Amino acid sequence: MNCPHCDFTRTEIYRTDTRTEGSTPYVIRRRICDNCKTKFTTYECADVKTLAQKITKTAALMKALSEMKHAVGVDE
Ligand SMILES: [Zn+2]
Repeated sequence: MNCPHCDFTRTEIYRTDTRTEGSTPYVIRRRICDNCKTKFTTYECADVKTLAQKITKTAALMKALSEMKHAVGVDE
């Protein structure tokens, strides 16, 4: 994580909290830049919605592929 103030590449985490909003847990990290000593906050959570969409798309592709194999007579 680069510093948003000076773009330095090394920052230190000095506090971590885990919270839940709805059913989605997320992590709040307080960081301090090793260069300019500015403190800032980052938020981290799993991208569950995108992951679910990818799984749905993969399942749809697998079904379409299976139907195409069946239509042209390819053994699975
Ligand atoms: Zn900085």
